[in-house]
Amino acid sequence: MSALQIELIPALTDNYIYLVREPASGTTAIVDPAEAQPVIAALEGRGWTLDLILNTHHHGDHIGGNAELKDRYGATVIGPAADAHRIGTLDRTVREGDHVTIGDQDGVVFEVPGHTSGHIAFWFAGSDALFCGDTLFALGCGRLFEGTPQQMWASLGKLRALPDSAMIYCGHEYTESNARFAVTIEPDNTALKDRAAAIATQRRKGQPTIPAVLGLEKATNPFLRADDPATQAAIGMAGREPVAVFAEIRGRKDRF
Ligand code: ZN
Ligand code: FE
Repeated sequence: MSALQIELIPALTDNYIYLVREPASGTTAIVDPAEAQPVIAALEGRGWTLDLILNTHHHGDHIGGNAELKDRYGATVIGPAADAHRIGTLDRTVREGDHVTIGDQDGVVFEVPGHTSGHIAFWFAGSDALFCGDTLFALGCGRLFEGTPQQMWASLGKLRALPDSAMIYCGHEYTESNARFAVTIEPDNTALKDRAAAIATQRRKGQPTIPAVLGLEKATNPFLRADDPATQAAIGMAGREPVAVFAEIRGRKDRF
């Protein structure tokens, strides 16, 4: 078994495309190609070809490079069954519990509706790697374009149940603005304040804040903490239903 090697390819304004390679077999995958050109440049620079394209959801900034990459490399495009009508380039559709392998690395699919109704995530346990698109962000979560707070809270709950060591590869570099919001929810959370300071330093140096680590998200991401007494108390909602608390935090972020 050889763990996946994962590289970030920044694209568009603040998207991350992921270049994923299983080194033993040389199998190469791309997750959420916002655009083709930076992917082609990365592959050519390494002398690699492309076997697989994985899509988390139908938004253009996650599938924009599908057609050109598929044409050029003959890569197989895998994405959500529920979005099959909205992603014309799909070769294989997957649902909750389906498996996707990259070389000898096994990934399982989670359906995580909320940002979009068909959104999925890919969890590669042997590599501690979660590709979650616009569902969970470092210190944030996706906007609810096609889902309810109930759906998104349940989706985040699935992801939160993964091991604390899980590395979170999300769709955007939104961390610094997410941090500015998070401290308005829990100004007394020491772990959050420390993290916000570290993030500001990283971004000043132009460094990515991704991957995030799930254990730290649980301690600092307000959207994973709607059932935490400290977070509830901090916004005057002690003892309330977690989904109501989540909806309140999401609403505040929308207006932030
Ligand atoms: Zn999106
Ligand atoms: Fe996006």
